[in-house]
Amino acid sequence: MRERSIGWGTLTTVILMLAVAGIFGLLFDAPLLFAGVCALALLFWHYRHMKQLSVYLWRDKRFAPPAGSGSWGVIYDGLYRLQQRNRRRRKDLARLLKRFRRGAEALPDGAVVIQKDRSIVWSNQLAQRLLGLRWPEDAGQRIDNLIRNPEFIEYINATDGPDLMVFPSPAEPMRMIEFRRMPYDKKQILLVVRDVTQWLRLEQMRRDFVANVSHELRTPLTVVQGYIEMLQDPQSMPPEMWQKAQSMMLEQTHRMDSLVSQLLTLSKIEANDRPDTSHEIDVPGLLSTIAEEAKTLAEERNLSIQLFVESGLMMKGDLMQMRSAFSNLIFNAVHYTPDGGHIKIHWQRCATGAEFAVRDDGDGIAAEHLARLTERFYRVDRARSRKTGGSGLGLAIVKHALSHHQSSLNIESELTFGSTFSFIIPTSLIYIK
Ligand code: ADP
Repeated sequence: MRERSIGWGTLTTVILMLAVAGIFGLLFDAPLLFAGVCALALLFWHYRHMKQLSVYLWRDKRFAPPAGSGSWGVIYDGLYRLQQRNRRRRKDLARLLKRFRRGAEALPDGAVVIQKDRSIVWSNQLAQRLLGLRWPEDAGQRIDNLIRNPEFIEYINATDGPDLMVFPSPAEPMRMIEFRRMPYDKKQILLVVRDVTQWLRLEQMRRDFVANVSHELRTPLTVVQGYIEMLQDPQSMPPEMWQKAQSMMLEQTHRMDSLVSQLLTLSKIEANDRPDTSHEIDVPGLLSTIAEEAKTLAEERNLSIQLFVESGLMMKGDLMQMRSAFSNLIFNAVHYTPDGGHIKIHWQRCATGAEFAVRDDGDGIAAEHLARLTERFYRVDRARSRKTGGSGLGLAIVKHALSHHQSSLNIESELTFGSTFSFIIPTSLIYIK
């Protein structure tokens, strides 16, 4: 819009109009009267425009100012220009705000801005979810009124305490939330909140794992160490003890060896979470080899091991992982079925693929243990598992191996009636030869 302003021209026009009115009044011998009437008319015209402007400024909902001519036209045009400039600025600001909001929502962490008096100024949706805030109702509320955990209140009110703390989520007490406090500007504080439940769980698992492995290795090591110390003074050991010492040391080193190889298998399976499942596995052949090994192991225990296998029923998968899964389940049945018991191994087609099942009529497992059996080092009877050379890692290996083959372990067991461990390999991995 071309720049316009009220200049000398406007004043000249007024003087000219008054002069013309005066000259015209000379004809009637009343120049002052005519000039006065003209001045009144001008005043009235200005009054009308002023009224129109005040209505527009205070009451009118229209965006564009009223139309006007002369000096008022210049004012209205100026107002219109101002309006447009404000409108553009508001649009730019709204765009900026939108971009900021989108950025804040895309953050992987929750963010809450609070005032020094602890009232909430702003929060993103993730923070609202993690902290159970209702938005916009909770805007302006004090955060320590909404999260009524005494430790949190102490943390939020302390000026020099640690910046990072973990508390149970007020929305879901089972979840753990990490709060990080950062100065935002002079009067505000930014709280970054993050769900650390999973991380804490993994950290606890890692600690338990290290403690378990150390514990499992320490027992056989202590036995071996005891015998070696006795061997340092051969005189103190009667010759008949020699034989026992040797066989004990051998047994304990076997135990350590089995634990380390199970650990290696587990870590290999875990490390390779996208195994190549395109290898053809001759399941009937594999099962008959494992069953033969199991029979050799149970030779003197009068165990019956029967194989019910659909010939030609093959699968695609990772041979090492599937061999571990099949053999762990079959050997467990051998280990936990008393002498004279019966074990049946099935590999047959079913509606959704092919089912593998090992049934035994052993002691069975009490219901409260079933959900935890696949945890690493979990054993129903530690002493019994140790006697059989078990490490407590077998079913964890099975669980992992199956998860890589779109399958999961199913356990049915009843005390004194025996157990069935089974899983289904989906049709997509099955083929007939
Ligand atoms: P372990 O090396 O101790 O056998 P696993 O992870 O293979 O470890 O098995 C975990 C626990 O599950 C065993 O200690 C045992 O108590 C129980 N279990 C596994 N298979 C059987 C079974 N067929 N019958 C009874 N209990 C079993």
